[in-house]
Amino acid sequence: MKNLHLLLITFSAQGHINPTLQLAKRLLCGGAAKVTFATTIHGLSKIKSLPSHDGLSFASFSDGFDDGTKPNDDPHHIMSEFKRVGSQTLTHLIQNLSKEGHPVDFLVYGLILSWAAEVARDMSIPSAFLWSQSASAFAIYHHFFNTHEGIYNNNNNIPPSFVNLPGLLSFAQEDLPSFLLPTNPHASITLCLREHIQNLEKDPNPCVLLNTFDALEEEAIKNVGNNINLICIGPLVPSDNKPAGCDLFEASKQYIEWLNTKPDRSVVYVSFGSLAVLQRKQMEEIFHGLVSTGIPFLWVIRSLEDDDELKAMIISELDGNKQGLIVPWCSQVEVLSHQSVGCFVTHCGWNSTLESLVVGMPVVGCPQFSDQSMNAKMVEDLWGTGIRARVNHEKEDGIVKREEIKRCVEIVMGLNGEKGEEIRKNAAKWKGLSLEASSDVNLRAFIEKLGA
Ligand code: UDP
Repeated sequence: MKNLHLLLITFSAQGHINPTLQLAKRLLCGGAAKVTFATTIHGLSKIKSLPSHDGLSFASFSDGFDDGTKPNDDPHHIMSEFKRVGSQTLTHLIQNLSKEGHPVDFLVYGLILSWAAEVARDMSIPSAFLWSQSASAFAIYHHFFNTHEGIYNNNNNIPPSFVNLPGLLSFAQEDLPSFLLPTNPHASITLCLREHIQNLEKDPNPCVLLNTFDALEEEAIKNVGNNINLICIGPLVPSDNKPAGCDLFEASKQYIEWLNTKPDRSVVYVSFGSLAVLQRKQMEEIFHGLVSTGIPFLWVIRSLEDDDELKAMIISELDGNKQGLIVPWCSQVEVLSHQSVGCFVTHCGWNSTLESLVVGMPVVGCPQFSDQSMNAKMVEDLWGTGIRARVNHEKEDGIVKREEIKRCVEIVMGLNGEKGEEIRKNAAKWKGLSLEASSDVNLRAFIEKLGA
């Protein structure tokens, strides 16, 4: 087999970096000789520590804003600069790697980097798109954006009240990815998602690596996007549940010690990922809901230092009360696999959802945007590994109230009826199935075919 060198490029957000890094490591374990992992210059400079692994090296390309300062008034300008400068600097990176004696045999590009497919085509390098969300989300975007019958190609950008696709749950409009809704404030991302789908159509051998596994979304995978070579390579989660490296935030130190003092399955872990910014009112409701359960909780709040009022309220209420520990960042995979954690209150980002499934952790879903609502629905209705906290629609403020947080946490912790036990059994079942996933076999076959 040929000594394969793959270049993996990722947008510099934590939810994109983490699965890409896992993929890099698995490609090396699966037979690739060399993997170069590249993200933006600014993103690379923010990474706290780079992991070392035989055959793995790191590189960067530019998004046009190398010091991280972006004009915040014009997202279309930011995206078009990203495309222009990104295409140029990616081309240079590939040329330099070749000059240094490491020609790139294959490019894997992630979400938001749709222009990379064109760079690869222009340089005659085969490529694949790493889809770091669910197969169901891919099926929905494909349904909306494909040029043949995509319903967003007739200037009719209003989704139907329900989307019923073969193999998928029936998704109500409000459960669709937020980038498809009329209320979406991020039109530039919607355009980029459309470009992704339409670039695949231009590729004579379109290939998508899906961060999911066959059993998890069997029917969705069977029914998605004809003519596309879909390869399930997930769950892209560290198999040892140890920090994988490449965090963009500094983790605190003391939380594992704190967890070690708690009985088994007695703690609620709360995190809304690396991007979502919750309204102050929502933070207060979550805080009071958690406190009212009397259950110990570990909560990641990234920006507490920026909100003096919230910080003062939390500190004064928790004063002398050891019920809660707030940290700015932690190793989530380590926390989720800690024996004292019994429930995960999550925004249902796809990585967090997979990480909970892999360790068999029951969840309370509080989705915020993007694909999170559909993930929360699948958690509740497809896998039965958790429940979704409901917003009080009558009040129309989009806030989950403290009583609802309390109700959901108590159910999942098994303090309120038998539902908690049923959820726990389902979570254990999915943990087992995730361990049996055939993704490593799929990845090995993929590498063998590339190297043949
Ligand atoms: N994460 C972490 N520590 C934290 C919070 C999040 O390591 O304190 C990781 C988490 O394990 C996951 C990623 O950050 O791999 C977040 O990705 P996800 O898709 O869940 O959400 P996003 O941040 O993209 O909204």
